[in-house]
Formats: sequence, structure tokens, C-alpha cells
Amino acid sequence: MRYKSFGKTNLQVSHIGFGSMHLPKLTQSECDKILNYALDLGINYIDTAQNYSDSEEKIGRAIHHRRNQYVIGTKTNKRTYKQAKFEIQDSLKKLRTEFIDILHIHYVNSDKEFEQVMGMDGAMKAVEEAKEAGYIRNVAISSHRPDKLAEWVKEYPFDSVLFHLNICQSFAVKDLLPHAKKLGIGTIGMKVLAGGFLNPLHSRYLLTQDVDIILPGFMSITELDENVQYLEQLPDKVEQKQLEQLADIASSHNCRRCNQCECPQGIKITDALIPSTYLTEIDNSTKRTKMWKEKRGPVELCRVCTICIETPECEKMCPYHVSIRERILNLS
Ligand code: SF4
Ligand code: SF4
Repeated sequence: MRYKSFGKTNLQVSHIGFGSMHLPKLTQSECDKILNYALDLGINYIDTAQNYSDSEEKIGRAIHHRRNQYVIGTKTNKRTYKQAKFEIQDSLKKLRTEFIDILHIHYVNSDKEFEQVMGMDGAMKAVEEAKEAGYIRNVAISSHRPDKLAEWVKEYPFDSVLFHLNICQSFAVKDLLPHAKKLGIGTIGMKVLAGGFLNPLHSRYLLTQDVDIILPGFMSITELDENVQYLEQLPDKVEQKQLEQLADIASSHNCRRCNQCECPQGIKITDALIPSTYLTEIDNSTKRTKMWKEKRGPVELCRVCTICIETPECEKMCPYHVSIRERILNLS
């Protein structure tokens, strides 16, 4: 297992972390086994959140007796002081810990939300209070918009940032990582397999990016072993170049999954756009195509939607000027 110095914190973290979004689907006994197996393997960053159902409780029950062997990161997606204060105390109880190593203010995707969080009655006030009292060691922020994170880390001395990073969403590599590194901020890339849809071979792209922790999600020890196996050996220069070329192609849809757009026809725009170039150019296996088709909704309605023919409703909302309609019509 490779370890990294985590920004300017004193933490040494495993390059592969444990994303625990899927733990709610497992029994407690399965969680006990997989979490202890991960720690035995040397994975020492465990990532969870208040809104991952009973993930925090399961982690607390499974490994609290080994608390000095792991770094725990959890998240609150609440925006007000009162709500965030409650969630921080609740996380401490559920995780059976006296302190949280990294507390993320979660899923901040617009300037308006950032202002709310940082305002007089915002979540940051609760986080700072908890840090002062010793309940939190490091303060972090997570977002689907790496370019916004790059702005916000200049406004507040965050210890760490968390964002999407995979071969289909490689935006953080240019938009954020150089800025975070310069400021000594720890970096965590999540959704490295885009929720289990990407071929694990393509997670190797992340190995040559300057990110401290990458977070695959695991549903079983077999999946964990498979992921670790793919991430063990660093790519040589030839493979690195190939993976970077693939990332340029696979991310050319330009959608950050910032969720600022909506479709009145019920099309799940991000689930239609993000895999589009991956499936057409890189891996169009039946399994992957079927999975994405099931998620993206009725894309054929886009062609006949009369409201959108002149000016697509969704495109008015997109801060990245993605040609959403044109891309969706190419799929339907
Ligand atoms: S252009 Fe298509 S995807 Fe966008 S809002 Fe209209 S129907 Fe929905
Ligand atoms: S299409 Fe634009 S607004 Fe919609 S999620 Fe993607 S980047 Fe955000």
C-alpha cells in the first residue's frame, strides 16, 4: 500500500481509501469483515457521511476498537449552524469516536450555497466550534465543481477538498489539483469508477494524477481485492499517455455533474451525458451500455420536446455551456 502526506495536516493516508456509500446495502456482519479486512490490508482512510443511511453506525460498530489505526472522514450536507451542530454530534455518537479527523461540509455546488454555509448562521460556525472543542481535527469541503473549489479554497483555509475524479470526469486535474497542492490542501477523489460503471482498468488513470486519496466503493472483499489489484502497480509512461488520451476523450462531454440543470421530461441529464463518450469511444460492453441506459431516463423525448427546440431549457441553467440537447439527440 502506498501512503501519502495529506496536505499540510500531519496525517499519513493510504492512497486507496475506503468509500463507504455502499455499506448500507450490506449486513453488519459483512461490514465487520470488509472493514477489518481493509484495515489489515493497510487502507487507513475511511470515508463516510451523515446522509449515507446507516454507514456511520456500521463503521462505528465494526472498527471502533481499532480507532488508532484509521483516519475517519465524514460529512454534513446541512447548511445552517443548528442543523450542522446536531449532525456533528450525531456522527461522533454513531462512529463511536471522540473526534472526527476530517469533517467535510458536503455537496456545495454554487456560490449561493457557499455563502450560506459561510454566513453568520451557517454550517461553518458549527464546524469551527466543534474544532475548537476538539471534536474535529480538520475542516474540508466537498463539491461536484472543482473549478468552484479552486475559488473557495482561496477564501477559507480548508485542510482538504473532495471532488469527483475518474476517466469520464477528469476536470479536477487541471481545474483544482495544482491550486490545492500549492496551498498545501489534502485532496480526495471520489467516484473513481463512476458508481461502479467504469471498467476498473480505467481507474489506473488516477494513479499518475497528483491526488492524495482515491476512493473506490466496495461491496465485497472480492471487489476490494480486484480494485486494489488494478491500483497496485503504477503505469509506465506509455500506459500513462494512453490513459490521459482516453480521459480527454471520455471527459469531452464537459458535464461536471453539478446538478444545476433539470429536464421537464424527466431525462437524467448527467446519467445521459457522462458515459456518452466513454461508451461510444472506449468501452461499449453490453453490461455497461445496459446499466447506463437504465439510468438515463427517456432520452427519446428530447427530440420531440417542442419547448426546447429553439432554446433548450436545461442549457439555460448550465454554467459550463454544455450542448446538452445536441449530445442527447446523438444518443437517442
Ligand atoms: S433539451 Fe432535452 S434534456 Fe434538455 S430540458 Fe429539453 S427535453 Fe430535457
Ligand atoms: S449539463 Fe451542465 S448544468 Fe447540467 S450537470 Fe452537467 S455541467 Fe451541470
